Amino acid sequence: MKITAVRTHLLEHRLEVPFESASMRFDRRAHVLVEIECSDGTVGWGECLGPARPNAAVVQAYAGWLIGQNPLETERLWATLYNALRDQGQRGLAVTALSGIDMALWDIKGKALGQPVSVLLGGRWRESVRAYATGSFKRDGVDRVEDNAQEMAQRRAEGFHACKIKIGFGVAEDLRVIRAVRAAIGTDMRLMIDANHGYTVTEAIQVGRAAADLDIDWFEEPVVPEQLSAYREVRAGQPIPVAGGETWHSRWGMWPAIESRAVDILQPDLAGCGGFSEAMKIATLASLHGVRVVPHVWGTGVHIAAALQFMAAMTPDPVRVNPVEPIMEFDRTHNPFRQAILQTPIEAVNGIVAIPSAPGLGIEINRDALAEYRMGDS
Ligand SMILES: [Mg+2]
Repeated sequence: MKITAVRTHLLEHRLEVPFESASMRFDRRAHVLVEIECSDGTVGWGECLGPARPNAAVVQAYAGWLIGQNPLETERLWATLYNALRDQGQRGLAVTALSGIDMALWDIKGKALGQPVSVLLGGRWRESVRAYATGSFKRDGVDRVEDNAQEMAQRRAEGFHACKIKIGFGVAEDLRVIRAVRAAIGTDMRLMIDANHGYTVTEAIQVGRAAADLDIDWFEEPVVPEQLSAYREVRAGQPIPVAGGETWHSRWGMWPAIESRAVDILQPDLAGCGGFSEAMKIATLASLHGVRVVPHVWGTGVHIAAALQFMAAMTPDPVRVNPVEPIMEFDRTHNPFRQAILQTPIEAVNGIVAIPSAPGLGIEINRDALAEYRMGDS
């Protein structure tokens, strides 16, 4: 069994209603899938977090090191590719592109061995996970306070047990949004806040202190990801647990935050941190310091399927009768191809997502949807 082809699929949908996080404006949804084909016809799928075209270009740059190799040798291939770009690529696109490749190789390994990736990673601790709804981005032309409250009341009605809202647009308005959402969802639904690194340290501490009585589970990316001392200052200066990690890459990118206790909750992204191979190492590093791991998820059904396989295999820390379970991020913003690219969509039912048990990632790709949402000039 040898790798014979490495392909990328660029997908795009232009949004009628653009939306914004504190750090980015979205006028379209664009994602890139990685398809690796083997000499026996086996195909594996992966996905890269971040800008589609640059990721695809780096995946293609790696292809020369993959063709002719045994796809089951995931660790050797990861280290070979990482080393190939190491001197200029210790984080960023070099690692996000590698993530999509590693994901596809594990999909192949699972299919070749007839096992879901979760079993190959060590075993399935759970067959389903609770999902939390991510949404409430800032939309053009609407009152944000009312819009966010209505949206999250809807998520509650759909059965989600928890939701995460976007802040980082301004302290006073953000506090009005958080209070309105808490009032709209009631006291028994979990609530998290995500600033997408839009605050200064002073603003983040101000928001955290003022929102402390609203029962917030975590305060995500309060400040820019490079400022670990600022993270620690926010963590010490206000009482809400601090989360972060979706833009930290590889074990070396995660370790300083873990070791220095910059976060209470680490959020590695399977499509960004280096794939399954690296996410397992990162989870081990987090366990050395008692840092909780809750993966970040953003993208298509391929990424969702990979995150589910990883979450199935996450060892409870500590192992106990009623362990703290991982929860699955479920992006609820508009993306028509998110599930359309899967033959069987992965949906939350009453806030619960079943973890596929078929070999590999446990999914089949709908190639008609790949064609329908193909990015122009790709
Ligand atoms: Mg986030």
